[in-house]
This record gives sequence, C-alpha cells and structure tokens, in this order.
Amino acid sequence: MAKANLDLIFYLNGLKPVPIDTRFVLLVKKYSCKFVFENKLKMNCPCCSGKTYEECCKPYHTGEKHAPTAEALMRSRFSAFAIPNGEYLMETTLPGKRKLHNKKDLQEWGEINEWTKLEIVQTPALNHVEFKAYYTDQDGNSQVHHEFSVFQKMHDRWYYVSGEFLD
Ligand SMILES: [Zn+2]
Repeated sequence: MAKANLDLIFYLNGLKPVPIDTRFVLLVKKYSCKFVFENKLKMNCPCCSGKTYEECCKPYHTGEKHAPTAEALMRSRFSAFAIPNGEYLMETTLPGKRKLHNKKDLQEWGEINEWTKLEIVQTPALNHVEFKAYYTDQDGNSQVHHEFSVFQKMHDRWYYVSGEFLD
C-alpha cells in the first residue's frame, strides 16, 4: 500500500477508509463537502462549517473533546451520518433514549444516503436546534430532513434527546 494511502487511513483515525488517489486533489463522490488534499491533507468538515474536519467535528468524534453546545453536537451528529459513525450517534443519544435506536440502523442510514448539506435554521433555546439535513437517497432523489431537536446537558455533556419532524 502506498504511503499516502496509509497516511489517510491514519488521518481518518478509525473511520472508514475511503478510496485514495495519491495525487493532490481528490474528490470523493460520497461527500458533498469534497475532500481536497493539497500538500498536507486537508478536509472540509462534512457539517459544512467551512472549517477543516480536524478543527471542527473530528475532536468530538474521537472523544478528545465534548461538543460545548447543542448546536455543535447537532453538527457533529450530522457529520457522523455523513462519514458514517453509528457508534458516535449512539453515544451522543441520551442514555435513557438509546433503547429507541440501534447502532446498526444508524450506521446504515448514514451509509445508504449521500449527505449533501446541513442548514441550521434556528437555535431558539440552549437545548433546541431546528435544522434541515439535505441528502440524496439510494434512488438518487434529493431529500430534506427538517427536524426540531431537543438536547439535554448531563454531567457537562450534551446529548440528543428526541426530534420532531417538520414539513
Ligand atoms: Zn463539523
């Protein structure tokens, strides 16, 4: 395996390896926020914050930090669908609500859809986030998941509690 391939796999740090082109620019079809590699590997965060993945959602996914706000947690969960990382989605669900979800289903839901854009509509309270998640389903149809989510802070960590689907 070429060194650049290994580098990327390590860079993704436990996330699913993606096919690599060892040249400088690579567009990975699965992601709308394209991976662009120039000299050093740089990656736009899937949550479309405009920051690199490393400066944005990665430290939350690796457990290095906890998302400081409900919005940051929401963004990191969107990224976790895009990557996908079902384990993170489970871990960031309020423990008492986890039985309503299934890690395998979350992982699959992330995998079968192409997550194209996240739009935060409003954050009317510290624990409320309204968002639109844009994705292309497995039949190639554009879809919007519009949700009003409730989060809860417990022992200094934010968790996803539940969501009301809108539209
Ligand atoms: Zn992000």
